[in-house]
Amino acid sequence: MMTVMSSQFQPILDRIMAEIDRTPGRGRSADYIPALAARDPRSFGMAVAELDGTVYGVGDWRQPFSAQSITKVFTLALDLAREGDELWEYVGREPSGNPFNSLVQLEYENGIPRNPFINAGALVVTDRFQTRTGDAAGELLAFLRTESGNSSLDFDEEVAASETAHGDRNAALAHFMASYGNIDNPVPVLLDQYFRQCSIEASCADLALAASFLARHGIRADGTRLLTRSQAKQINAVMLTCGTYDAAGDFAYRVGLPGKSGVGGGIIAVVPGRCTLCVWSPGLDERGNSVAGVAALDRFTTLTGLSVF
Ligand code: GLN
Repeated sequence: MMTVMSSQFQPILDRIMAEIDRTPGRGRSADYIPALAARDPRSFGMAVAELDGTVYGVGDWRQPFSAQSITKVFTLALDLAREGDELWEYVGREPSGNPFNSLVQLEYENGIPRNPFINAGALVVTDRFQTRTGDAAGELLAFLRTESGNSSLDFDEEVAASETAHGDRNAALAHFMASYGNIDNPVPVLLDQYFRQCSIEASCADLALAASFLARHGIRADGTRLLTRSQAKQINAVMLTCGTYDAAGDFAYRVGLPGKSGVGGGIIAVVPGRCTLCVWSPGLDERGNSVAGVAALDRFTTLTGLSVF
């Protein structure tokens, strides 16, 4: 087993960036949210955060982007910390094998979504967190600001409004689950919280730092515990099996780390006990995962030998 010193992270990131720059075919920016369609698919940034908060980065690693579904990891962690295992009565933890915004399984499974990372499952988690806090998106933003140390993180109201105006699919998911009694809040309230959550703008450095509690087995930046060690393991496991939707098998095969993607082109990944990563490039494949992002994480684990396997 190769051991990689922290001092080697920077040259490895530089090498990955040079290789990615020569890779043709970067996918397409998400256009079903019009405000995201204009993002340049050639942008690329990557950051590695060590457990002590040291961050290495390359390319556009300080450039804020739309975190989108990456935020689902944090809302899940915050809700699980408050609610505990009862959450799993309302959302499953099995890979879906279907696209992130799919409706089909809900009818067969009585309105209980397969996992917390497909849109249906994330809507349930946000709904439950909203019931507990009265301000799910605000609590999430406060957590991200604290963990990243960046108090300027914020919602992108233009992206949230753009998604609201084109949100029929998520509205359908929420209404359908409400018909089974699996949504507590009025659907418009839930959708407003969900779209604002997804619209949070943060950089690779911010998100790698904010995810560090998952590499620190549940411990926050200030040393206090958010999750039990077991809960941190559980979230990492669900990221590995469900974090990149119907590409989770391929992601595990290529990258070998718990990861969570978003249609803004970001992906976070966790090396438990060692570091967290965030990569961003807006060009997506047909499953909604960043083409250059997956390629870069694939190269990182190959070059460093760091993976959960
Ligand atoms: N806000 C997006 C949606 O609900 C998030 C999807 C994603 O990032 N995969 O469609």
